[in-house]
Amino acid sequence: MSVAQLTIDLPAIVANWRALDAAGQAETGAVLKANAYGLGMDRVGPALATAGARHFFVAAAKEGRQLRRILGPGPVIYVFSGHVPGDADLIRAGALVPLINSVDQLLLHVESLPGHPFGIQLDSGMNRLGMEPAEWSALRDLALAQKPELIMSHLACADEPKHTMNMQQLKTFSEMTEGLDVPRSLAATGGILLGSAYHFELTRPGVGLYGGLPFVDAKPVVTLDIPVIQTREVQIGESVGYGNAFVANRLTRVATIAAGYADGLIRAMGPRAVVTADGVKAPVIGRVSMDMLTVDITDIDGDPQSLQMLGVHQSVDTVAEYAGTIGYEVLTSLGARYDRTYVT
Ligand SMILES: *Cc1c(COP(=O)(O)O)cnc(C)c1O
Repeated sequence: MSVAQLTIDLPAIVANWRALDAAGQAETGAVLKANAYGLGMDRVGPALATAGARHFFVAAAKEGRQLRRILGPGPVIYVFSGHVPGDADLIRAGALVPLINSVDQLLLHVESLPGHPFGIQLDSGMNRLGMEPAEWSALRDLALAQKPELIMSHLACADEPKHTMNMQQLKTFSEMTEGLDVPRSLAATGGILLGSAYHFELTRPGVGLYGGLPFVDAKPVVTLDIPVIQTREVQIGESVGYGNAFVANRLTRVATIAAGYADGLIRAMGPRAVVTADGVKAPVIGRVSMDMLTVDITDIDGDPQSLQMLGVHQSVDTVAEYAGTIGYEVLTSLGARYDRTYVT
């Protein structure tokens, strides 16, 4: 093993999807944007489709076109960015359903692709994408006459169950869509866990499928084993790495392992990070280099062949904390250089 090994557990992703699906009555979709949060849309998409997922979401039409090639005809593929100028060919070729965000997008869509399916994205308070209540009231009848397939909105604070914003957005979304005979979707992973009032007809989990918070009961999905390239003994007072950032205060055994910030091991995590050898913790020391990390293995028995950054002993969210970020960023940063293996 010369480069780090990233193992992606497809049955775990399917189990997470099933667990979120079992959380309520709604149909459960799957969010595959950013190449399935970095884990490979070409493998994750078919695994979830086989498990029964029929509604997929991506960020951009280009991703949707790729996903259509992977999944073939049948599953619905929604595009969060809606119908952006220049995307008509991709939307038509991919048989994609853009989630229309504005009056301008609606006009562009009905003019460039008359009769082509679409959905509506409403802003219930997050102020990121979607039509605001006033814009929606003005446009509602025109939009409904074109028969949208779905009306959706997105929660800003769903990972904080007690946040008053959740109920406020639920109320706004309910008011904006009351009495309409169109399927609705409000909940991503966090929203599903808020309870069935948030589920409506279709849910849209992303991070929970991939083993991340706020789905605390998620099965771990990724394992990252990093090979040891060299070990050495460092004397008291000697330093390790760029900037002499670590200085030994005891006789220290140091392992240099083959992954760094170019592989998505965020440099900011620095010496807060820990890796494991058969579950035993070993601290990262010194600075994160582009292609390497240095680890204090003094307290590890023997010479480990590899050390583990992600897996059952350490989740994506734990590693995210070292860098002051979130599991989503750790997942979507996972490097292109890793050897990827899929458990099927
Ligand atoms: C990314 C995203 C999701 C999925 O969110 P998770 O928190 O990963 O479950 C759902 N809906 C929208 C609009 C998104 O942007």
